[in-house]
Amino acid sequence: MADAAALDALYQEVILDHNRRPRNFHPMAEPSCSADGKNPNCGDQLTIWVLVENDQVADVSFQGVGCAISKASASLMTEAVKGKSRAEAVALFETMHRVLTGVETDPAVIKGLGPLRALSGVGKFPMRVKCASLAWHAFRSALDGAGTVSTETGAGPHST
Ligand code: ZN
Repeated sequence: MADAAALDALYQEVILDHNRRPRNFHPMAEPSCSADGKNPNCGDQLTIWVLVENDQVADVSFQGVGCAISKASASLMTEAVKGKSRAEAVALFETMHRVLTGVETDPAVIKGLGPLRALSGVGKFPMRVKCASLAWHAFRSALDGAGTVSTETGAGPHST
């Protein structure tokens, strides 16, 4: 199982790197939409700003405080959805939701996620699932014009 351990270490490194140097970590002056996300269980709080142009996610940024997983997930998310069409971004949200909650375990699907694979291990840690999915729910909420999302309301991650 040396390979699995090496892979875990690599994922760990991606998460630490994005936590230390979060990408797209700034407010946006004139977003199309935004949403706040809260995970009271861990104390994670973030705001996501999205600029939609021609039905495409032209820009996305975030700011907030929280644990390494929540911050790294938000950072990875901004890089992953930028440039995608709205439909592609929503489809990616759906896939990530299944991966983060451990429902989707198909290695081919997980491999196709690229850098987001670093988050695929959190399904094994129930306390961390909400941390990792917070930014994704906030992003989805922003696109839907729904505003604030909390992991502790009906709008939060669905249990499986
Ligand atoms: Zn957290």
